[in-house]
Amino acid sequence: MKKNVHPLAPGSTIGIMGGGQLGRMTALAAGKLGYKCHIYCPEADSPASQVSAATTLGAYDDIAALKAFGEAVDVVTFEFENIPHESVQLLTEHAVVRPGWKSLAVAQDRLVEKEFINEIAPTTPFRKVESAADLEAAANEIGRPAVLKTARMGYDGKGQVLIAPDCDYEAAWAEMGAEIGILEAFVDLERELSVIVARSPGGGWATYPPVENRHVNHILDTTIAPAVLSDDMAKEAVDISHAIADGLDLVGLLAVELFVTRGGKLLVNEIAPRPHNSGHWTMDACPTSQFEQFVRAVCGLPLGNVTPHHDAEMKNLIGSAARGWADLMSEGTAHLHLYGKAEIRDGRKMGHVNRLYPRGHWK
Ligand code: AMP
Repeated sequence: MKKNVHPLAPGSTIGIMGGGQLGRMTALAAGKLGYKCHIYCPEADSPASQVSAATTLGAYDDIAALKAFGEAVDVVTFEFENIPHESVQLLTEHAVVRPGWKSLAVAQDRLVEKEFINEIAPTTPFRKVESAADLEAAANEIGRPAVLKTARMGYDGKGQVLIAPDCDYEAAWAEMGAEIGILEAFVDLERELSVIVARSPGGGWATYPPVENRHVNHILDTTIAPAVLSDDMAKEAVDISHAIADGLDLVGLLAVELFVTRGGKLLVNEIAPRPHNSGHWTMDACPTSQFEQFVRAVCGLPLGNVTPHHDAEMKNLIGSAARGWADLMSEGTAHLHLYGKAEIRDGRKMGHVNRLYPRGHWK
């Protein structure tokens, strides 16, 4: 029997699929509003479990464990989107699942995602590729340089190969390492933006201002918030994001990553139906953080104020950068967030720091 979630009252339990830092910061925000969180993930001592009331340790396709989890919680949400379809279906039989399956299905496959987005907003040209021969044919069509990506399970640049004009296609195909890939035309980037929108069950909106994201080695390094943009481009980015969230019939949070080309055009890169690394600045610079907003949307509560009271720079602490925690704590304007990960590894997101500035600082 599904539970009543209109709205879900404080004291209830939010089930979160995934145990990473996004789940951790969601659980902390949920706790502030009087909710409990129950994490479902395969790893013991996960960042999210450390700060949550309960954890179910299980594989994402463990039917019995998923069923018990669905029965134990009042609503189910996700801190990452790579959950098998059958598992989401099963959870839906026991609890209200937000966002719905469509958001997850679109976001977990780059081909489905680009096809869906293309109905709404421009993307870079792309082709489906299933062999080295396909790859060569696709590169001849869309041109070089191009970027080969795995269709599924890719993140932070993992599974991506640059296809240069003198490419060895067999080697590039083997390097990508998946059965289905997507070849994208390389975008001559001026910069990268993202927009985070919250959408409530009744269709209400709250939208954070667009931010600028700077990547190092394909991993987000720094977010500048808000981005310094013309009013027209900011409006276009927000309109695109609303149209995508509407198209998904999303309840929860949606992050939309956009490229700005050197010609000044906006192209959508990808979407994530959950809190996003480029929204971490909201924790210290907005009245309602993206994590609290996510909880509010998923529980059917009124959405909170998203107008920043400060400008901000969010810097990820990746790998050994987290060793600087003591110095960061003694920095006056720095707000440090660490994720409780025991082992420092290259490329691993260990925490982030938000530095605040008066409004208008970036203009
Ligand atoms: P993604 O995993 O698709 O978000 O890619 C990670 C990063 O790689 C992006 O944020 C861009 O900096 C870069 N990138 C991805 N796709 C392209 C592309 N088609 N053209 C140029 N740069 C790209």
